[in-house]
Amino acid sequence: MEIVGSLLTHDYGLSLYGYVGCCEFLEPQKPVVVPLTEQQKATVKDDLAGVLKNKECEDVVEALIAQAEKNTGFKAFSHNLMDTFGKVTSFGSDGRRQEYDAAAGSNAGSPGGIALTVNYPLSNDDPLIRNLNGRKMIHEMFHGNRDGDLTALGSGERSYTHLDMQQAAWDVAHARGLTNYMSAGVAVFSGKRPTVDDGSSLMFGELIYKYCKTWEQP
Ligand SMILES: [Zn+2]
Repeated sequence: MEIVGSLLTHDYGLSLYGYVGCCEFLEPQKPVVVPLTEQQKATVKDDLAGVLKNKECEDVVEALIAQAEKNTGFKAFSHNLMDTFGKVTSFGSDGRRQEYDAAAGSNAGSPGGIALTVNYPLSNDDPLIRNLNGRKMIHEMFHGNRDGDLTALGSGERSYTHLDMQQAAWDVAHARGLTNYMSAGVAVFSGKRPTVDDGSSLMFGELIYKYCKTWEQP
């Protein structure tokens, strides 16, 4: 299972303040990928399905997808991230399974597919961890949800970027009247609409945290 031309980025996350996806950097080398087991794939899928079971969460995700389409001019593969999850053709881990790190991107080696790597520990019995992991999957599937010309564009260019996600979050938050929304003492959506990639789309994570606080067995 080789990842070719995928979005070679990693999303690290913090659970503080509900952030999922804290820092991301470009990595010039190909990651060493160990395939996930069938059981691990099912766990990751249910992490996502269980957090989207919350209608408030499903609605805000749908609004964010529609907003990203409008802002970027690039259609999304689907407005339902479970459909997007169905596009994952490569499931891997770097084998450490320690850091809160995951990545997703369109996979040129498998046109139309998404390569996903999940490096954090999975859990089947803690709803809080499953919520955290489900929110992480929302972030990753959002990256990979951009539908594009899979043969023409280069690596990473086919995914929604962190800046796309920040701007969509800012627009959706403002449409919902969250201009002065505070999280951990920070006014998240105040000031100017973001024009610079913060490397992790914290603002997107904050909006997801606000609306996606639960996990239910799908
Ligand atoms: Zn990311």
